[in-house]
Amino acid sequence: MSQSYYPQEPRVAPPHLRAQTASRRQPESRGPRRPRRKSRENRLVAVLALLVVAAIVGGGIWMWLNRTVRVVVNGTGTDVSASATLEQIMESEGFSTKPGNLVSVGGNVLEEGGGTAFTVTVDGQELDEGAAAAFRAAGNESITFGDGTDVIEASHEEEREVQPQLEPAESVGAITFVSQYGKVGRQKFVVGDISGETVAGEVIEPVQNVKLESINPRPENGRKVIAITFDDGPSSYTQRYLDILSAHGARATFFCLGSQIPGREDLVQAIKAQGSQVCSHTQNHEQLTAIDADTLRSEIGDAFAAISAAGGGDTTTLRPPYGALDAQAWVNSGGNFSASVIWNLDSLDWELPGVDTIVSNCTDGAWSGSIILMHDGGGNRDQDLEALPKILEKLQGEGYEFVTLSELFSMDSRIPAEVAAGNARMPEGYVWATSVME
Ligand SMILES: [Zn+2]
Repeated sequence: MSQSYYPQEPRVAPPHLRAQTASRRQPESRGPRRPRRKSRENRLVAVLALLVVAAIVGGGIWMWLNRTVRVVVNGTGTDVSASATLEQIMESEGFSTKPGNLVSVGGNVLEEGGGTAFTVTVDGQELDEGAAAAFRAAGNESITFGDGTDVIEASHEEEREVQPQLEPAESVGAITFVSQYGKVGRQKFVVGDISGETVAGEVIEPVQNVKLESINPRPENGRKVIAITFDDGPSSYTQRYLDILSAHGARATFFCLGSQIPGREDLVQAIKAQGSQVCSHTQNHEQLTAIDADTLRSEIGDAFAAISAAGGGDTTTLRPPYGALDAQAWVNSGGNFSASVIWNLDSLDWELPGVDTIVSNCTDGAWSGSIILMHDGGGNRDQDLEALPKILEKLQGEGYEFVTLSELFSMDSRIPAEVAAGNARMPEGYVWATSVME
């Protein structure tokens, strides 16, 4: 039955399909087909034209960007990409340069290769870092690459105090004394931010070093004088020495040990009263080159105080035990003594060599300005007691006078008056050395 209905199927779509059908069909029913095809071709042409233009412009730009230019690199002509950077040129030319290092303000390498990668000169003009980074090849440049340079670490400037150093004496004589006290200086320093190294810069106020001078005294007044010195007292021999000296109209110098003074203060005073001089041989006879700075200062300072308290007077002159004193011991002292006196004629009395040997040791080859070493303590001094009058008489017979060290030193104008007097001190406003000059 359905077949029989087929021919009668309505030609018009059912209402729910009608709108769609209509909208689909409507354009087809507008105008003829030919004009529609023509507009499509036009569009195609326009697109193609655009593509061609784009290809031409794009290709042009691409070609412009990728064109090569002629430059001279380290003396050789070559083609490089236009607008190439220096790094690109180096790479394309197969150049390699040795980079510089990062170095400290003191010149030590902090980082290998930490400096600039290369240096470059373009047309004779050396480019700085910024100009080198901004460079683009334009053509015709003459480019010369060189190795990189060192870069110095960042640093800052500081103003610092400069402490005086001790300038040791240039020669060795019987008396060594301070010829110049110190003054603090001020100076600018460049301080490396990484290394902490310092490099001295502008001097704002010059430092004044402590200076020592050492000489053998030489009387300038034509007098023939000799200074006898006695170490390690006061002792049971002191008064007998003084009596012999007085009997011969002679004076001497006694280097007393501070530890020997208690109970013998009268002897210290007797030395002075006789006209002889009291100086220090330190407190306990320690070797000053073998003890720490604090001990050294008290060894020296305590003995001066003991001598002064006993009535021996104000002295800053010492004889170092064993004659041992070096530049570091001077620094360690803090400047609490002004002069060190040794000897240049040694009796060798401590060997107990016999009276005649002691006499000849003290008199053979004596000269004006001689300083003789004898002992007042440290053992039996009977040989000295017997030798002393013979020494005095023999040398007096040769025209010599026996004087104190102060008297001898005052006859040599190279020795400052306060040093000769035996009690020089560091003047107000001066400072002591903190180290030995290298
Ligand atoms: Zn001694």
